[in-house]
Amino acid sequence: MREYSIAAIPGDGIGSEVIAAGLEVLRALAAADGGFGLRIEHFPWSSAYYQEHGHYIPPDGLARLKAFDAIFFGAVGAREVPDHVSLWGLRLPIAQGFDQYANVRPARVLPGVKSPLADGKDIDWVIIRENSEGEYAGNGGRAHRGLPIEVGTETAVFTRAGVERIHRFAFNLARGRPRRHLTLVTKSNAQRFGMVMWDEIFYEVARDFPDVSTDRELVDAVTTRMVLKPATLDVVVATNLHADILSDLAAALSGSLGIAPTANLNPERSFPSMFEPIHGSAFDITGKGIANPIATFWTAAMMLEHLGEPAASARLMKAIESVTAARVFTPDLGGSATTADVTRAVLAALGRMA
Ligand code: NAD
Ligand code: MN
Repeated sequence: MREYSIAAIPGDGIGSEVIAAGLEVLRALAAADGGFGLRIEHFPWSSAYYQEHGHYIPPDGLARLKAFDAIFFGAVGAREVPDHVSLWGLRLPIAQGFDQYANVRPARVLPGVKSPLADGKDIDWVIIRENSEGEYAGNGGRAHRGLPIEVGTETAVFTRAGVERIHRFAFNLARGRPRRHLTLVTKSNAQRFGMVMWDEIFYEVARDFPDVSTDRELVDAVTTRMVLKPATLDVVVATNLHADILSDLAAALSGSLGIAPTANLNPERSFPSMFEPIHGSAFDITGKGIANPIATFWTAAMMLEHLGEPAASARLMKAIESVTAARVFTPDLGGSATTADVTRAVLAALGRMA
């Protein structure tokens, strides 16, 4: 039997609630499939853990994680810890330490879900976010703190190697989709150096993919295109910051942030990849039992696909879609179901398929 080791890091807030639901569904899938098993280990790294120990990830933490086949991550962020401390304490050290440079964010309106757009049905996108450098390279500083002459810098860093590999990844992914279309998003009118280099390298890589059609849009303009002409987009490649923003918009346009999944991939598989819902720890609904677990279930399906279990992944997607079609919705989608109700419904749908 094939066995996969999964490191579960629920983190903060609703992270624990949705990861618990996700693991329940994953265990049921493995049991019903019979062809593969999951060995799940929990890591308690969270903001409460940080307040107690002074760190999110212990000194040997990354070395321990490295042995796993995949990381199943909830969310990080708590009222008691500044967001830049929690993000740089837990999520970014894993994504950067394991060179998970390709952040894949699919957006689609699931059956039964209502998009705020009239032609929301046309949304079928994959946003590829460069995940290792750019605006979130962590390159900057502060000087003369508190004085009128205080200065803060945040320098975006783009390298040829980093840009070329994300473009190549995006072209390969676009090649595998029916429409084979890739849109380059930058801001190369205002930013003349790094962004112009992004554009140049894109067209160099494009020569190796004559079967993929391309076009190009400035990041501000692409927001209007997402809203007004959703059918004209298929795969989008953009920088760390730009794609971060575009994918929240994509999530909202496809119905709710509570649905949107993401994969942080190390495509070479030198390190484990990390799978997480796009949303954060959602203080406003933590502990109420109403977090939408669909984003985490869809995330689990992406993880199964990556692990090499496409049949189980497809079964899970089908179960999710049958539950959304039946409108078993948490409040973010306008329903009154709880996290547990949606989880039970997905488990029941999987049971019917077995
Ligand atoms: P958020 O995603 O936590 O919440 C935004 C809004 O969406 C809230 O109203 C929330 O209730 C709702 N929402 C989010 N997920 C939901 C779900 N599954 N079901 C139903 N409703 C859902 O974003 P925020 O409020 O900007 O940030 C809260 C904290 O989370 C901050 O500390 C932030 O830094 C952190 N954060 C972490 C990650 C991550 O770990 N990857 C991502 C985003 C934000
Ligand atoms: Mn974000």
